Amino acid sequence: MLFTKRRGQGDFSSIGLNRPERGTIIAKGVEMVYQSGQRRFQALEEVDWEINCGDIQILMGPSGSGKTTLLSILAGLLTPTAGEVYLLGEEITKMSRSKLARFRRQNIGFIFQNFNLFPALTAAENVEVVLNIKGIRGRKARYQAQVLLEQVGLGFQVNQKPADLSGGQKQRVAIARALAGNPQIIMADEPTAALDSHSGHTVIELLRRLAKEGGCTVLMVTHDPRIIDVADRVAYLEDGVLRDGTTLR
Ligand code: ADP
Ligand code: MG
Repeated sequence: MLFTKRRGQGDFSSIGLNRPERGTIIAKGVEMVYQSGQRRFQALEEVDWEINCGDIQILMGPSGSGKTTLLSILAGLLTPTAGEVYLLGEEITKMSRSKLARFRRQNIGFIFQNFNLFPALTAAENVEVVLNIKGIRGRKARYQAQVLLEQVGLGFQVNQKPADLSGGQKQRVAIARALAGNPQIIMADEPTAALDSHSGHTVIELLRRLAKEGGCTVLMVTHDPRIIDVADRVAYLEDGVLRDGTTLR
């Protein structure tokens, strides 16, 4: 169920591509200027980027270089001040808010840097809520939540609340939640920072299988050498300027 082979889809001819299996994530001339009062700060400068379907793509760069900003824009969580973003052949920067929300629910699993778990809910309920939002309910949702938590190595902690979980365990709940509903694109902001070596390995192997066997595209901000080991490409951001092109395999 989780590892069905998929291909990119959608109309790529409008953006000059005729290889639908490539270019799952495309940024064209993406700029971001943060403005507060008189102060104007350019966080991203004309980012052009194409991330291939089925790749594990890493984004690295010093703190403050714009990594979270770029990831948020590519995930449709933040609107760029200029430029276009295409996911699976559809321009998300043109979508209405409601269409974008639906598109994100269906296609993107996002792992936040600070986990974003609901404190009053157990690990299983945290995953179930996301499944419910995606239209999977009742016993089916309970079963899928259990399977997802087992996959990240948390089968025994399903009934614990975030406060009773370690940092690494919370992070794994966040990862299980991002995988709920089988999204085609998985994005993560420093997903293994809090993971010890054993759980880190479990999660990395899972992400690798999702990309290589499930055809998911995985985009991660990370400096974790264990992830870089399984990555296909690494790009670097520095002062809002993207340097792409390091192919690892
Ligand atoms: P990174 O994730 O690489 O650390 P960020 O994308 O978080 O970088 O931030 C890039 C730059 O943009 C930083 O200088 C940060 O201070 C600035 N920035 C981020 N968010 C905002 C915001 N909402 N308003 C103003 N400046 C911001
Ligand atoms: Mg960041």
